[in-house]
Amino acid sequence: MLSVYFSNTVIISIFINIMVGYFCITPLQTFQRNRKFWTEKPLLIMEIHNIIIKCSFTNNNSSDNSTEQDYFSVSAIIERANKNVDQTLDESTVLFGDIAEYTGFQNADPCISRGCKWSKHKKGKVYVPYSISNQYSIREKQIIQGALYSFANTTCIRFIPRYRQQDYLHIKSESGCYSFVGRRGGEQVVSLQRFGCVYHGVVQHELLHALGFKHEQTRSDRDVHVRILYQNIIHGMEHNFQKFQTNNLGTPYDYNSIMHYGRYAFSKNTEPTIIPIPNNNVAIGRATEMSRVDFQRVNKLYCG
Ligand SMILES: [Zn+2]
Repeated sequence: MLSVYFSNTVIISIFINIMVGYFCITPLQTFQRNRKFWTEKPLLIMEIHNIIIKCSFTNNNSSDNSTEQDYFSVSAIIERANKNVDQTLDESTVLFGDIAEYTGFQNADPCISRGCKWSKHKKGKVYVPYSISNQYSIREKQIIQGALYSFANTTCIRFIPRYRQQDYLHIKSESGCYSFVGRRGGEQVVSLQRFGCVYHGVVQHELLHALGFKHEQTRSDRDVHVRILYQNIIHGMEHNFQKFQTNNLGTPYDYNSIMHYGRYAFSKNTEPTIIPIPNNNVAIGRATEMSRVDFQRVNKLYCG
């Protein structure tokens, strides 16, 4: 089964080698032959290269259950980035992997009385103001904004730069990747640590938390679809697998949701911590971007 992973790697290696050879051996003749080479060909080559890499890392139907296959999933990226995160923040705590919760009296939490949802504009759009810290490079800002805009095509959510709105997301690089669940009121931090969390899928994942969504494997009906192997979970991390009474919005359980943990999440012994049932071979938690059902849920919660 490991051959699937290695065969992809081999394809990439061969491709890179051919490109390196092409660039190193023939540049002078090619340049003399066609002056446009340096402006057009590299762009085309980079595009093909990107497509090949993308194909090899989004092979979600594979039944290969190795940890290598999970390495680039959003679930694994977040777990790595949050490994050494101090779980205690100012007046709040990071729980459940990457979800921040206010400490103290949960009953008084303003989120409860206001329902945590972002409000709907008269014309049906839901505007969510945001600001992005200047800590990020231009490229990092582009990745973050790409994820913000990804909601606009198929949902009514519009992330808009904050002007004076009272409630807004402040996207900044703190230690690790995390977000509160739903609208908290006032400024609410979405942390995307530089060099660890600034990936399209990770940004989408944290934004879904901010819109009110929890992790897929904590759904109320999860025991019908997955089995949690507590004997393999790192001691003290069991709370990450807690089940909640969630509103599942009539949508199916989605192994390919960007909100689903990987098979080896918080494993202490490289053995699985979550296995799909009844078919153990189904790939789970390997998403690198929002699934169709993820978008469908946003529409059901906000846009209906
Ligand atoms: Zn999360």
